[in-house]
Amino acid sequence: MSRRYPDVVDVAIVGSGPTGAAYARILSERAPRASVAMFEVGPTVSEPPGSHVNNIEDAAARAAARHASQGPAVDAETVASPGAVKAGSRMARPGTYVLEKGYAFPGEDGMPVAAFSSNVGGMGAHWTGACPRPGDSERIGFLPDLDELLDEADRLLGVTTHAFDGAPFTDLVRERLAAAVDGGRPPGRRVQRMPLAVHRREDGRLVWSGSDVVFGDITRRNPNFALHDESLVTRVLLENGRAAGVAVLDRRTGETHDVRARFVVVAADALRTPQVLWASGIRPAALGRMLNDQSQVVFASRIRDAAAPTTPNGPVGQSDEHDIVAGTLSEQSGVSWVPYTDAEPFHGQIMQLDASPVPLAEDDPAVPGSIVGLGLFTAKDLQWDDRVEFAGDEMDAYGMPAMRIHYRLTDRDHEVLDRARTEIVRLGRAVGEPLDEHPFTMPLGASLHYQGTVRMGQTDDGCSVCGPDSEVWSASGVYVAGNGVIPTATACNPTLTSVALAVRGARRIAAELEREKQ
Ligand SMILES: Cc1cc2nc3c(=O)[nH]c(=O)nc-3n(C[C@H](O)[C@H](O)[C@H](O)COP(=O)(O)OP(=O)(O)OC[C@H]3O[C@@H](n4cnc5c(N)ncnc54)[C@H](O)[C@@H]3O)c2cc1C
Repeated sequence: MSRRYPDVVDVAIVGSGPTGAAYARILSERAPRASVAMFEVGPTVSEPPGSHVNNIEDAAARAAARHASQGPAVDAETVASPGAVKAGSRMARPGTYVLEKGYAFPGEDGMPVAAFSSNVGGMGAHWTGACPRPGDSERIGFLPDLDELLDEADRLLGVTTHAFDGAPFTDLVRERLAAAVDGGRPPGRRVQRMPLAVHRREDGRLVWSGSDVVFGDITRRNPNFALHDESLVTRVLLENGRAAGVAVLDRRTGETHDVRARFVVVAADALRTPQVLWASGIRPAALGRMLNDQSQVVFASRIRDAAAPTTPNGPVGQSDEHDIVAGTLSEQSGVSWVPYTDAEPFHGQIMQLDASPVPLAEDDPAVPGSIVGLGLFTAKDLQWDDRVEFAGDEMDAYGMPAMRIHYRLTDRDHEVLDRARTEIVRLGRAVGEPLDEHPFTMPLGASLHYQGTVRMGQTDDGCSVCGPDSEVWSASGVYVAGNGVIPTATACNPTLTSVALAVRGARRIAAELEREKQ
């Protein structure tokens, strides 16, 4: 990790989450002679840099890593239980922090729990790792190579489907869900194991993929690649409408530097990527617009009518409390996927928990795996006016233009949410005995899957920010990455798709650099 910034590189990458890391990886593989500098505003919180904090074995060190990822809210309390979110609190989940101001305006729904992570690895150091493929209208129709790109994203993220096969009741849960859902669906869209960026080590322990896995050894060993943490990119430098580099504020010394670069990739999450562009004077009409979040309903059921199995991994145990309350998966969890279809427009993430998300009587302890947490995500009815705007006269805690989120659910959004609430109760009854009377609708922003703000388009028709290779229409050599690039309204977890789109952009830069160096 070099503290001395280079004067000139071929490629500057802003942000070290999974999508920025995908650019670094593909460039290391395909253009190893290219010099690449990555700038990350947050600190390094795990080793190797960018690795998932769940992989930190010591509980206190793990908690410290999460706190250090919370940017300006480093000392803020995070949700102590799923119930805190349910009570409408604006507390963030561990490892994240909520937008302090500008998250809602009178007469609008806003996005009260819009959140960020600021650390090497971004949210990818804290995520659940669910990597489902988009289906039906979630897919980007104008990309003929989408499936090959998704395969490549699977490779970069280390996606597996069998890490939780030993989890108690997991086959039963899938069988019951399948009986309720699968009729009339094509094979690929039936109930199945959730593809997850998780694998098991030989000793049986789970390893969560973060940006470290995306980087891979090839990036870590690349002498032409350097990662600079605690380095805020304040703007992209342009010359004659083309990328010329980045202005970087060293958060350790307070000094600023210009680093010249022929290509700049802004992978600073779906809310901060448009912020960097806006601060750089790159302000196409679609910047920040078509913002969409996946509304989410949750419900819980309990399996009481089947005997507790013993697992191949030994006695059924419980994880430490911090992980359980954070809603993350543990050794004993199972994760099932109910894929989105246009006919049933919900993406289902069904997670078995090894402890109860709701209080149960002491004399009636829950068998691990028998509490089934159901979540249905819905796709937003896309609106031009749903947007993140930036203030010219007000700064955020990093000194960047302050965000203002304008966001409304439409009548169609409410209809789909009503259907999702009905459906989740039906699914909850199919798998066991419901623990809740009614499903709970999460506050807006809770999905952490914000999209659309730097959306990709097939042509420069004024409704998109970048083209199919993620290059900004109005600023050649400037590329955008992250969930904000996804132009469709997806209900499924978006990271696999964003990494796939990053692969396409990175291949294009690599090809241009290699051509020039020949
Ligand atoms: C608890 C949790 C669970 C999740 N579960 C899932 C899941 O199961 N499946 C799924 O698909 N997604 C999930 N997500 C979301 C997923 O983590 C994100 O979609 C993914 O990390 C996005 O990758 P990214 O590279 O675009 O952005 P990020 O990972 O957010 O990284 C962006 C990075 O850019 C940095 N940055 C921002 N501005 C600047 C600047 N000006 N200069 C320098 N650096 C900057 C940030 O500090 C950050 O580190 C989850 C997230 C969380 C927190």
